[in-house]
Amino acid sequence: MKVGNVLQETIDFLKSSLTQSPVLDAELIVEEVTGMPGHKVRIIPDEEVSQEQYEKICNYRQRRKECEPIAYILGKKEFYSLNFNVNKDVLIPRPETELIVDLAIYYTAPHGKLVDIGTGSGAIAVAVKCNRPDIQVYASDISGKALVVAKNNAETILGPERQIELHKGYLFEPFRDIRFDMIVSNPPYVDPALREYLQRDLEYEPQEALYSAEGGKEIVTKLIEDARDMLNDEGMLLIEISESMSEYIIEKSSESGFSVSIFQDYSGLPRIAVLKNK
Ligand code: GLN
Repeated sequence: MKVGNVLQETIDFLKSSLTQSPVLDAELIVEEVTGMPGHKVRIIPDEEVSQEQYEKICNYRQRRKECEPIAYILGKKEFYSLNFNVNKDVLIPRPETELIVDLAIYYTAPHGKLVDIGTGSGAIAVAVKCNRPDIQVYASDISGKALVVAKNNAETILGPERQIELHKGYLFEPFRDIRFDMIVSNPPYVDPALREYLQRDLEYEPQEALYSAEGGKEIVTKLIEDARDMLNDEGMLLIEISESMSEYIIEKSSESGFSVSIFQDYSGLPRIAVLKNK
């Protein structure tokens, strides 16, 4: 079979599915299996695809049609221009979370200590360390399986010289004796009541990384309350939040002795809360 035909067939196949990006998904699948990116397929569409490759493409596109996220099918996701390995044990890093990395890189004191709570794939912690090697980076997750993925990403992306410290535990539990200059977190913050209305793709992701009790507020609340004793005087807390949570965060921060500003993501939605001692 010719690669041009296989790509077109895959696009048509995915157009009849729920995916919002059939062309991109088809290109990524064909590229993963054949090594040929979309633009190359269009230049040399007559290149042959082996039977084995074709079967793999059919398997991948079927999985995509069943709403499995493309990142899990390919086992990878780009975040902050770095290639992260991902699997169903970790949340897929989202572009809006890159804003936390920007802020942490900019604001963390020289040679400061930073912790990423609920690190998942290690995306935030690894991206910060990669761009600010002077920072001492710690990270925790309650899921041992997620930490396996994070460790692998830290080793492959950072290499043996630059490393981060990974700990298993709930929120700040593993770090009771440390005071941080920067706390960052992309905690679960989706309201479980919204579950039935959300994209089917989300069902493949670890539910405990997405949904939080009390209308999505439980973990965010604990983070703000516990951060008080975990930060140095000049320390800062950056949390990714849901777009409907701004008012609650402002109230909760003030109650806990923090001043807060909320940054919008690239879609113009309130997304990152920045908390500092008052
Ligand atoms: N932004 C993600 C979503 O809506 C949620 C991530 C999270 O809960 N931390 O899919």
